[in-house]
Amino acid sequence: MNENFSIYDNRLEINLDTFWQEVQEKISREMTAISFDVWIKTLEPVSLQQNTLVVSTPSASSKNVVLNNYKTLIEQKMQEVHPAINKLDVVISTEEELIKEESHATASVKVLETPTVSQDKKSMFNPKYTFDTFVVGSSNQFAVAAAKAVAENPGKNYNPLFIYGGVGLGKTHILHAIGNYIQQTHPELNVIYVTIEQFTNDLIASIQTGNNSSQSDFRKKYRTADVLIVDDIQFIINKTSVQEEFFHTFNELNQAGKQIIISSDKPPKEIYPLEERLRSRFEWGLLADIGYPSLETRIAILNKKAELERMNVSKDVITYIAESVTTNIREMESLLARAVFYAGLMGKSVVTIETAHEALKNYIVQQQADVGFEHILECVSKYFNINIKELTSRKRNKEIVSARQISMYLITEMLSMPLAAIGQIFGKDHATVLYAKNKIEEDMKKNKKLKIQVNDIKQMIAGK
Ligand code: ADP
Ligand code: MG
Repeated sequence: MNENFSIYDNRLEINLDTFWQEVQEKISREMTAISFDVWIKTLEPVSLQQNTLVVSTPSASSKNVVLNNYKTLIEQKMQEVHPAINKLDVVISTEEELIKEESHATASVKVLETPTVSQDKKSMFNPKYTFDTFVVGSSNQFAVAAAKAVAENPGKNYNPLFIYGGVGLGKTHILHAIGNYIQQTHPELNVIYVTIEQFTNDLIASIQTGNNSSQSDFRKKYRTADVLIVDDIQFIINKTSVQEEFFHTFNELNQAGKQIIISSDKPPKEIYPLEERLRSRFEWGLLADIGYPSLETRIAILNKKAELERMNVSKDVITYIAESVTTNIREMESLLARAVFYAGLMGKSVVTIETAHEALKNYIVQQQADVGFEHILECVSKYFNINIKELTSRKRNKEIVSARQISMYLITEMLSMPLAAIGQIFGKDHATVLYAKNKIEEDMKKNKKLKIQVNDIKQMIAGK
């Protein structure tokens, strides 16, 4: 920058938190949710000094990971938000206090004001959200099939495609997968992805500017799309002018045979209040819902995430987490991320079930486990005259093995504990528990004595 042209210099106040938020937002598009949660979300902005952003991490090991793997990406995104800030420095939290004393949260940085760069079409879709990384199960297979059909032949099959389902069940992932797919196979098509919130903000901005050209820019942007993808349409309620504008956008695109894809957390008939003419248009094409994933699907999703992120997680941990969260994949992923992060902090390369329990103890309710299973063990122990230590030991003596399997069976029967957690009591994995449960169930059908024994113990447990 030429010093002589100081007339063009601006001393811009940059708010540290806002700046970091914008940078994070950009980074999040280029990473999976898990990596992002583990490595980027845990960074705290400390200061802005000249061209350098200082952030802190909780540990030396995470500092290393961030510097080795993500520094370039973070610096690149920093520059996209503000070209003058191009250097990243990472400190460990304890060093942070010192630095804070030396600088202020808001720094005044000498920069040349640059026009905001128009959004890069490629960055519109998260490259990690593809059909390949999406696990298909009975809860989502219809929606995925419809999404693929639309991605292969935009504007030809189902128009609009309306995908709905609860929070964290993969709607945004599918929308990005469609966008990624079309951009790859039909780079000439103008694909626009927008949340209804962005659409609203755009509309407001175009109206506030108050001139015709900004309003026509707005219309041009949306009405020249070949494929318009609108996420979270449910937030259109109570926004009359947005509904009006979207109605016209919809009509124009639809008449021109352009593809519209919409997501919502509920079906059109439950979006309220909503103009009737919009509701009926949402129902014109194909409605596809996403339900709650089964345990198998949840396990498959976690396995996929662990594989994509090269996380070293034991099988029990996957089952433990999958059993604990039933209605929200995002929540499930963040538990996995938390367990991995915690293991990292403890310097462990594999996430074991013990580590996961420790990491997640405040996040997963242990469903009366503490009250229940000890009492069951006590009763089994008394009944067979085998002490609890032996019951939970690795001893392979026949009587002990049998009493141990009965204990496992009774715990699965009488308590709603995850199999992996039951396994942990005995130092075994969930598969061993499942095996014991099935074995005792089968044996009881053939073996009357065993059946009586188990019933006796049940009575004991119930205090009768
Ligand atoms: P929604 O938009 O419905 O609230 P998202 O699409 O944001 O949900 O999904 C939340 C997280 O769960 C994302 O990280 C997404 O990748 C993941 N996810 C959801 N369903 C699946 C699936 N079937 N396979 C793989 N990942 C999934
Ligand atoms: Mg979403």
